[in-house]
Amino acid sequence: MRFFLPILGLALLAGCAGGPPIDRSYTSVSQESRVRYVIVHYTEGDLARAFDVLTNGPVSSHYLISDRPAAIYQLVDENRRAYHAGESAWQKDAQLNASSIGIELVNPGYRDTPQGRVYFDYPQQQITLLIDLLRQIVARHRIDPARILGHSDIAPQRKVDPGPLFPWRRLAAAGLIRWPDMAEVLRRQPAFEAQLPDIGWFQARLARHGYVLSSSGELDAATRRVLAAFQMKYRPARHDGEPDAETAALLDVLTSAPPGGR
Ligand SMILES: [Zn+2]
Repeated sequence: MRFFLPILGLALLAGCAGGPPIDRSYTSVSQESRVRYVIVHYTEGDLARAFDVLTNGPVSSHYLISDRPAAIYQLVDENRRAYHAGESAWQKDAQLNASSIGIELVNPGYRDTPQGRVYFDYPQQQITLLIDLLRQIVARHRIDPARILGHSDIAPQRKVDPGPLFPWRRLAAAGLIRWPDMAEVLRRQPAFEAQLPDIGWFQARLARHGYVLSSSGELDAATRRVLAAFQMKYRPARHDGEPDAETAALLDVLTSAPPGGR
C-alpha cells in the first residue's frame, strides 16, 4: 500500500487537475487575437482532391468551401496554425501562416488554351457563404478590412489565386474590404493618360498599398507580377501587368489620403 499511494496521487494530479492550480480571476486589457489576416485561395481541383490534399499532407487550411453544392468545412481550429500561405508577406509582416486564417475555395483554377489562359467562375452561393463566414471571422478577431487578402497579394511571385474571376467587388459591397472611389479614379485618370508615372512611382505606390517588392526602378518580371496581382483584384478586365493610366489612377486613389480625411 505504501508503495502504490504516491503513484496514485501523481496520476490524480496529472489526470484531473491538469497541472498546478491557476487563478484566472484577473485579465489584462492589453490583448488581442493573434489572427490578423484572412487569406483567400482556390484549390485548383475538385472537392475530393481538396479533402485529400488539405487533410493528409503538409498543406492545410482552416476552412474549405465547396462549389456545387456550396458548403463550409472547417479543417483546422481558428486558434491553431494552418499551412496555406507559404513564403508570404504584406506590409511589414511576413510568414503569414502564423497570423492568418486560410480559406480555400473549391475551384479548378485556370486552363491554358491556344486563345490564352481561361479561369473558372465562382458560383454565387459559394461567395455568399464565404461572405457570411468572413463576417463572423472579422467580428471574432477584429480583422482590419485591409487585411482580407488573396494568396496572390501576399505571394505575387508564386501565386495567382484566387484569380481574376474572384469577385472582390462583392466583398467590398458587403463592407469587408475597401474599394477605390470610382468617380475619383475617373477624375484622376486623364492626368495619368497625359503623363504616365515612371516605374519607380508604381513600385512605391504598390509598396505603400502593402505589396512587398523591390524598388528597382525597372519594369522587371517581379514588378509585372505584382502589377498583375493588383489588376486582378481592382481591374480584372485586363491583368497583363502593364503599367497604364487606369492602374495608376486606381493606385493613386487607394494610396492617397481621402479628400477631407477620414
Ligand atoms: Zn493559395
